[in-house]
Amino acid sequence: MPIDPRANSAEKLVPPAPLPLVSRAALRRVRDAMPPPTACPYCEGPVALVCNSEIYGREFGAWPYAYRCVPCDAMVGLHPATDLPLGTLANKQLRAARATNKQLFHRVKDRFGFTRSQAYEWLALQMGIPKAECHFGWFDLARCAQAGAVCKEVRRG
Ligand SMILES: [Zn+2]
Repeated sequence: MPIDPRANSAEKLVPPAPLPLVSRAALRRVRDAMPPPTACPYCEGPVALVCNSEIYGREFGAWPYAYRCVPCDAMVGLHPATDLPLGTLANKQLRAARATNKQLFHRVKDRFGFTRSQAYEWLALQMGIPKAECHFGWFDLARCAQAGAVCKEVRRG
């Protein structure tokens, strides 16, 4: 779904526990919304919406919530003030790959003086994928590697 239909609905938004709220304005800001995960892509285990203090021992970040598969520890964070996941659930290896390659991407963005939107447009073009799919939170290991390779190419140039 491009934008969560609740962003423009009149119904009252009831936040799922433990979220304190779900903001309609925040839903509207998420251009490429992925629905909340219901089953883990790795082990098909149940996915819980948790406060990330359950993961890290203390709350981490401004919107300290995550979807998490307890059996295998795959997880994904949420867009601020929403119940929408940043992408697909990721195991430790994929989380590390996303973080590392996103960092390379941010260096390219800064080097070119790109806005966030310009930078993702550029990356999508380089990778040959639709911009709507160009989110590190959506990437699997192969796409993480591809994004990293594209960004390293620039730094060499
Ligand atoms: Zn799992």
